Amino acid sequence: MQKSTDVRDALQKDEAHLWHSMKPFNPEATIIAEEAKGAWISDANGKKYLDGMAGLWCVNAGYGRTELAEAAYEQLKKLAYFPLTQSHLPAIQLSEKLNDMLGGDYVIFFSNSGSEANETAFKIARQYHQQTGSHERYKIISRYRAYHGNTMGSLAATGQAQRKYKYEPLAPGFIHVPPPDTYRYPEDENAAPAELKSVQAIDQTMTWELSETIAAMIMEPIITGGGILMPPESYMKGVKEVCKKHGALLIVDEVICGFGRTGKAFGFMNYGVKPDIITMAKGITSAYLPLSATAVKKEIYEAFKGTEEYDYFRHVNTFGGNPAACALALKNIEIFENEKLFERSNEVGGQMKSELTSRLQHNRYVGSVRGKGLLIGIELVESKVTKKPLDAGLVNKVMAGCKEKGLIIGKNGATVAGYNNVLAISPPLNLEEEDAVFIVDTVVGELNGIAETN
Ligand code: PLP
Repeated sequence: MQKSTDVRDALQKDEAHLWHSMKPFNPEATIIAEEAKGAWISDANGKKYLDGMAGLWCVNAGYGRTELAEAAYEQLKKLAYFPLTQSHLPAIQLSEKLNDMLGGDYVIFFSNSGSEANETAFKIARQYHQQTGSHERYKIISRYRAYHGNTMGSLAATGQAQRKYKYEPLAPGFIHVPPPDTYRYPEDENAAPAELKSVQAIDQTMTWELSETIAAMIMEPIITGGGILMPPESYMKGVKEVCKKHGALLIVDEVICGFGRTGKAFGFMNYGVKPDIITMAKGITSAYLPLSATAVKKEIYEAFKGTEEYDYFRHVNTFGGNPAACALALKNIEIFENEKLFERSNEVGGQMKSELTSRLQHNRYVGSVRGKGLLIGIELVESKVTKKPLDAGLVNKVMAGCKEKGLIIGKNGATVAGYNNVLAISPPLNLEEEDAVFIVDTVVGELNGIAETN
């Protein structure tokens, strides 16, 4: 495009016809992306940006992979569509591959988005308990600050009140517990106020709600969009034990943490736990096409093989497991393996985190630099002593300064009441060494600039 009149025209049409996610219309802030390669996108003005968020934490294999386009193209020519009420080879092969990656013992249900994968998980959990005679179990426990999707059930599971405001009432039966947060409430659980001892809080909530009414707990291995909250290392094992004690299933939301984001194939693999149900989306196709999956332990799946009229899973979606999306996902996973991108996430992410930590240690606004792999959060505070969140205006200023210099970073939305103060870095896993240096230099430069002038 590039001619300024063309860009202005496109922005006018954008305002007239296109309803954007998550923001009021703001032409100043709108990037019209035209093309992209690796970690870099070019906009309609020809300006280049390093996409330090990989889109919405999803373009894990990086932009511009012709082999992914070709995998989809070849499959579209051969068999563009067939519903998964029946079957096709790309879905069979992908389910086998995902089961291998998960360490075996899982059956896969395909959908189109992370929200749908979570909805599917909730329905499977509820019906599973019906199938096995626990007719009172319907409640789903989740954490404040976590995001699980935009639908009435997945938004009900979400622990961010500002996303729900004006859309309520949502689906009933969802109950929230406090999230773990080793920055504010360090790993020494005795240092936290009793009500925030995070695993204990889940145990108590399940007891107070009556164990025999709890269907499942849903959690991300690391809360991502809610502020990249690092749990104590023992937390997930503790949650799994509590779930077992109360007869609840453990659903792990790997929509962001999956496919190498935290330096392992799946986030839960950092914590030595085998979930009952695992949901995934985003990185499964590196967002080249929509696809999501709900992986379910075989023993749960077996419970749906009864002979009563409603014993099978009466849930369908038209597009889930589209053959081209599955073929593309298989090629995407081949790229992860051939280029060792999960290991790369671990290495490059680790280096970036230690660089950021050492170069920002004296910055008066930086309370904590944290994360795993290429999932990095920087929590900004007014004071390192009180840990009071930094004013949103200053946080936005840092992001705008980075953007001005050609770097897109994220923050935990305007969605976590009182805590919109965590910068997020989540770039494509194949970013170049110099890209990593550019991210660190730019973020450090902006944060130091703000600290000096405000
Ligand atoms: N779960 C998590 C952890 C997410 O971050 C998201 C989206 O950002 C979702 C679920 C919902 O995924 P989708 O936007 O594909 O519906």
